[in-house]
Amino acid sequence: MNEYLENIYKDLEAKYFYQKEYLNAAKEILSSLELVVNQHPELVTEKVIERFIVPDRIITFRVSWLDDNNNVQINTGYRVQFNSSIGPYKGGLRFHPSVNESILKFLGLEQVLKNALTGLPMGGGKGGADFDPKGKSDREVMRFCQSFMNELYKYIGPNEDVPAGDLGVGGREIGYMYGQYRKLVGREEGTLTGKGLTFGGSLGRTEATGYGLCYFASKALSTLRNTSFKDKRIVISGSGNVAIYACQKATELGGKVVTLSDSNGYIYDEEGIDLALVKEIKEVRRGRIKEYLEKRPSAKYVPNSKDIWSVKCDIALPCATQNELDLDDAKKLVANNVIGVFEGANMPCSLDAIKYFQDNKVIFSPGKASNAGGVAVSGLEMSQNSLRLSWTFEEVDKRLKDIMENIFDNTYKTAKEYGDEENLLLGANIFGFIKVAEAMLKQGII
Ligand code: NDP
Repeated sequence: MNEYLENIYKDLEAKYFYQKEYLNAAKEILSSLELVVNQHPELVTEKVIERFIVPDRIITFRVSWLDDNNNVQINTGYRVQFNSSIGPYKGGLRFHPSVNESILKFLGLEQVLKNALTGLPMGGGKGGADFDPKGKSDREVMRFCQSFMNELYKYIGPNEDVPAGDLGVGGREIGYMYGQYRKLVGREEGTLTGKGLTFGGSLGRTEATGYGLCYFASKALSTLRNTSFKDKRIVISGSGNVAIYACQKATELGGKVVTLSDSNGYIYDEEGIDLALVKEIKEVRRGRIKEYLEKRPSAKYVPNSKDIWSVKCDIALPCATQNELDLDDAKKLVANNVIGVFEGANMPCSLDAIKYFQDNKVIFSPGKASNAGGVAVSGLEMSQNSLRLSWTFEEVDKRLKDIMENIFDNTYKTAKEYGDEENLLLGANIFGFIKVAEAMLKQGII
């Protein structure tokens, strides 16, 4: 980082010293922009980076709701509207006890670049609440979602801000929130994405992030190593939406997925993961991944999810959560000759782990590029809602594949142009930033 960028970072650090996740994300992005700043002095005079790196606004609100025992419960809800230079704010809602302003600012900032990479006209935002849906009854989740929307609806709309799901917010929660939104505004306008298929949802949204990750990884493997998923051993972490559909597509492409995990531990199945069984456990019963062994006793369960990266593999797809893969894990993967690490989750790899992969010629793709399939299909859901049309699964899937391959091409081309050919993180940051910066410059200082 040059002195100018360093000073921007120091200012953020002084002001937000308690926001570790946000500072990490800001540092990672600022570190990529030195060459761009050198080539574009107008970015400095117009203070584009100083404007880009902080959110447009943060909305914080109280969410009061009644549990099944008629006790009043109180949570905090947030919406970080980060940047709308290229389109309405767009990004998921996360319900998890760890949710706070720092995590949402980090995710919102990443989202701005990710959405720019998709090529669709979407700005970036993120939101959620420190509510834990785990262990809550269906009615409790419904009452929470309704109360959350009673406040959020004032700030969102199809041309303003279009939230979607994220951790803890799946089809059920989106359904409850959208129902309440429609009730409050008295209109049908598709303001949330990830909706059910009977009320404006898009075919292919459920599969989009996991499938998109594999489309991106396939293109990277063929372009950079002249190889493919065929006959590769694959380690996937997580067993949620992203992990399950990454597992499905990787298997369809000829790979053998040998692990999945949850926060308690991981399963290892040398025969290849039986995905129908996993879907039954996770999607139908909402159970724990350990239950896999009840029907597949030949598989192993290791009660330490962190240890997953010591499993030998050619391709690693971290699809669980942020900071799940550190330098020690990266060393284990490299020692086992991993070819590529493609992030399905948002920032699962620590910065030193990423550097270690890059230094050891492992293909590494950041989540903002390789997991953009989810938001891309959300963008396609917005288009279908506006058109009052529903595209077929094949049509959506084809568009998704094209978008993911384009993201790879643009990221790779940009990295090459800026002199660091396989640095897809640099390429993604620069490509996304330039697009947003250009829109900001052309729209004046607002
Ligand atoms: P889900 O809530 O469906 O699943 C998350 C999975 O990760 C669960 O199996 C969870 O297990 C597991 N997990 C959580 N913490 C750990 C841990 N420390 N070690 C191992 N496993 C863990 O979420 P998604 O699949 O939707 O999202 C996963 C990641 O992908 C997140 O970072 C999200 O932001 C990102 N993402 C998701 C998109 C989407 O379309 N869904 C789009 C782009 C990014 P447990 O049940 O024990 O908590």
